Amino acid sequence: MHKEVGGVMIQPKHRATCHCGAVVLELDLPNGIEDPRRCDCSMCRRRGAIVASVPLAGLRVVKGSEYLSLYQFNTHTAKHYFCSRCGIYTHHQRRSRPNEYGYNVGCLEGVNPYDLGDVPITDGVNHPADRK
Ligand SMILES: [Zn+2]
Repeated sequence: MHKEVGGVMIQPKHRATCHCGAVVLELDLPNGIEDPRRCDCSMCRRRGAIVASVPLAGLRVVKGSEYLSLYQFNTHTAKHYFCSRCGIYTHHQRRSRPNEYGYNVGCLEGVNPYDLGDVPITDGVNHPADRK
């Protein structure tokens, strides 16, 4: 976990915003940024975001829910949300762990995700839910 990134402290309730500011999230991050990852699945390799985890109850859309668009593909289990105005991915409900959201670390206010250094890459091509 990361309680401080590039000199910026992660707040227990940290805000996250899309690029245009229409969508504002409040995240409960008492332990900082947990489990930041990249993923090489067909979706993530295109959007390129570093994603971290939060329980479903730890994420609230405080502004702009009407701007959020939902995108689903493949098994239509995961729910990928993005701002319909600026196109930025904000968060998604996971397929692998539906009790969690993944969120875009780059949306955290004041945080430069590249200050995390190297983050692990999940083998999303071979999704855990597809393994027998
Ligand atoms: Zn936006």
